[in-house]
Amino acid sequence: MEGLHRDVELTGITKRYGDFLAVNHVDLAIERGEMVSFLGPSGCGKTTTLRMIAGLEFPDEGEIFIRGKRVNAVPTYKRNIGMVFQNYALFPHMTIRQNIAFGLSMRKEPRASAARKVDEAMALTHLEGMADRLPSQLSGGQRQRVALARAIVTRPNVLLLDEPLGALDKKLREQMQIEIRMLQREVGITTIFVTHDQEEALTLSDRIVVMNAGQIVQVGTPEEIYKRPASSFVSDFIGLTNTITAGVIGVNETAVRAQIADSTLELLLPTGGSFAVGQQINLSVRPENIALGDVPTDGYNRFGGTISHVVYTGALTYFHVDIGVPGNRPFVVMVPNTDLKLKGSAGLEVGDKITIGWRYDNTQILEKD
Ligand code: ATP
Repeated sequence: MEGLHRDVELTGITKRYGDFLAVNHVDLAIERGEMVSFLGPSGCGKTTTLRMIAGLEFPDEGEIFIRGKRVNAVPTYKRNIGMVFQNYALFPHMTIRQNIAFGLSMRKEPRASAARKVDEAMALTHLEGMADRLPSQLSGGQRQRVALARAIVTRPNVLLLDEPLGALDKKLREQMQIEIRMLQREVGITTIFVTHDQEEALTLSDRIVVMNAGQIVQVGTPEEIYKRPASSFVSDFIGLTNTITAGVIGVNETAVRAQIADSTLELLLPTGGSFAVGQQINLSVRPENIALGDVPTDGYNRFGGTISHVVYTGALTYFHVDIGVPGNRPFVVMVPNTDLKLKGSAGLEVGDKITIGWRYDNTQILEKD
């Protein structure tokens, strides 16, 4: 039955600070066991939404349900949630075991079962052997694991994480992302994760909720969000992309012809949806879908261009290719640096003339006027 397994449901949630609308009519349902991230630029309302689920802020309008129960007026400590924030203040004078056990002792959990639950949480977060240390005797990553262990030890219905990895360096952060994901799967706990880092959201989530200016602009799996962004905003925010503005000049059953703005260059677009001659459209093509050098003629959009910039990043090289259309930023073309793929691009330098192209069904249509 629909709604039966929903752990968190928001309907029409709105939060104002004075005249400022921080969260604007947000509707969202999160299923049991899901890992969902709130992703968006700074100030878009992610943290405010999370804090309302936590009971640290209260909505001006709308309703919040946890496991089917309306919690609008329920205080944080009665919502049965676990929380981890970027500044995961551990109690400095308590040992790791005492820190993790804190929530259980507040609930007057009997000593033996508390000890067992703490041991389990420490095993899940790879903290065995650290029980008697103080927080100051741990690394940043280990301290973050203690904060996680402390949040899950009470077996909350929902785990809320607000940029929990923000203070860690890139390598540790990536390692912790994988650990959090594995832990979440193992425990099966419904988790909401706030981040402004799109890679983090792609790595961690079953579904991503993309927010902008207090509203949800798209909800989908990482693949859906990446491959079928609903707008230029989402397309730009998730991964690197090339955007093009074009005007439709012809429509038939197999393809749509369009002209890149301010030029006579034509491209083909996939059909589907309605198009009309004269319509302006915004398009996006991902850098990994653009071929460089040997571009097939059939089913591909092909353009001649000049390499304007080359960025080598180890596993990948990014070639910036200018196709000479005023106002159109150079195309970014991503080439994996494997022997096989390098064939066409080895030795290419700034100033070289080159053909680029992409299969026309790899063009994403974002907005139409
Ligand atoms: P960030 O990634 O920077 O944390 P965010 O998406 O989490 O951003 P929120 O913290 O939810 O953003 O804030 C949303 C908006 O509401 C921001 O413009 C912020 O300045 C504003 N805001 C948040 N808390 C308050 C407050 N207590 N009083 C006034 N304005 C607030």
